[in-house]
Amino acid sequence: MISTIPDHIIDNAYKGKTTKDDALALLQAPPFELFELADRLRQETVGDTVTYVINRNINFTDRCIGKCGFCAFKDSSGYLLNIEDILDKVEDAVENNATEVCIQGGLLPDVDLSFYTNIIRSVKSEFPHISIHAFSPMEIYHAAKQSGISIEEALLELKNAGLDTMPGTAAEILSDRVREKICPGKLNTAQWIEVISKAHTTGINTTATIMYGHIETVEERIDHIMHVRDIQMKTGGITEFVPLPFMPYNNKIGQEIIESGRYATNGIDDLQIHALARIILHTHVDNIQASWVKLGKKLAQVALHCGANDLGGTLMEEKISSSAGGKNGEIMSAEELEWFIISSGRQAVQRNTIYNPIISSDSMKQIEVEIL
Ligand code: SF4
Repeated sequence: MISTIPDHIIDNAYKGKTTKDDALALLQAPPFELFELADRLRQETVGDTVTYVINRNINFTDRCIGKCGFCAFKDSSGYLLNIEDILDKVEDAVENNATEVCIQGGLLPDVDLSFYTNIIRSVKSEFPHISIHAFSPMEIYHAAKQSGISIEEALLELKNAGLDTMPGTAAEILSDRVREKICPGKLNTAQWIEVISKAHTTGINTTATIMYGHIETVEERIDHIMHVRDIQMKTGGITEFVPLPFMPYNNKIGQEIIESGRYATNGIDDLQIHALARIILHTHVDNIQASWVKLGKKLAQVALHCGANDLGGTLMEEKISSSAGGKNGEIMSAEELEWFIISSGRQAVQRNTIYNPIISSDSMKQIEVEIL
């Protein structure tokens, strides 16, 4: 295919040196040229395997003192799980072969760090082998503030309690202009970067996310991905980047967008940001995740040809997107995830949270048979 993308932009992409001007020019290129470049970089970085994780989401409360205008989850039914409820969900995860539980919740006004460490210690003491992927940078910031301690002290206590990794959520768009409008009172851009960077220096790997498709500009999306690249160049602690399209239903920001005649993101927009993330983060962050729960299963499968190499998790339970109008379900079995991967012409590999492959007992038997 003859590409209209200038050679110097392609060279910069291969060297991991895409500039903001390059990124803006790439968004002007025919979308399928952008997708093809991202797909080639994906191939060079991770080959043809597509990974997924068997995990379970546990949202321990929807009560929250936050004021995020995009949130349809907050106070949707006012529940709060106790430790026994959480342990029951972890047990269910373990019985369903999960290697990870992802624990997050709203911000409770009357708890401090001990509330969070108690969850981690309780889960680890009952289920020492499950990987605990928990607490957004906002929750860490909240816990540290409530306890009157520094971010480093909070992270160290959580790590000592058994926290393995953290989701890089609460990132939304890393622009204070946007954050003041869509999530006033939430940690600002510098504070999000601080929590994530300090997690890495404490030995806690994180993911990084972007929630796009609301009031942000194209430049702000690019700046966001550049911030992620800058963090990674300093710490190397980001395991994956996850673009998350804004869900416009049952929330104030979404209502305003719909009334203005827009419907958040469209399919090309979704694929473009996955491709752009692959290109800007090339040589820095290896894994770009297509979130089936946000994109839908079929578009997530297409994103595997536009730079993505991971389909996320089985989830088993999902409350955040479904409360904002998401209609893609709350669970996808490992078999169905593998079916989507294989039918897109790629090899499916189950992974753990930090992207090491999981060799199942069936695969081991197969390897033994082949060796014999
Ligand atoms: S996004 Fe999180 S912090 Fe913001 S209101 Fe919703 S639950 Fe609270």
